[in-house]
Amino acid sequence: MRILRAVRFCMPLRRADRRMWSKKGSQKDSKEIDTVCPYCGTGCNITLHVKDNEIVRVSSMLNTWNEGLLCAKGRFGYSFVASSERLKTPLIKKEGKFCEGSWDEAISHIADRLKE
Ligand code: SF4
Repeated sequence: MRILRAVRFCMPLRRADRRMWSKKGSQKDSKEIDTVCPYCGTGCNITLHVKDNEIVRVSSMLNTWNEGLLCAKGRFGYSFVASSERLKTPLIKKEGKFCEGSWDEAISHIADRLKE
């Protein structure tokens, strides 16, 4: 929790927060989506502010267990969402090579492996 507080109350980080998200343009009319931070098992609550299918800000509500506090990764680390290198289909290892597969195929494969 100490690290989370540092990001919220540290002035240089607060400025970085404002600077980073202001580059994304106006947040007016953005849609707010409450979810959970994807990074670590702590499971902080986050709110994604999405406009034109792009995250324009990340915040966290005060009335959640993490009290609106997020570490640097949880607050700033979302460039991967729009990365062209992001995997969009499951990769299944066949004969030593990763091949693209469907989600049904991947889930079935995992279920089979769990039964072994
Ligand atoms: S905000 Fe930081 S501490 Fe919280 S879940 Fe995300 S990575 Fe973990």
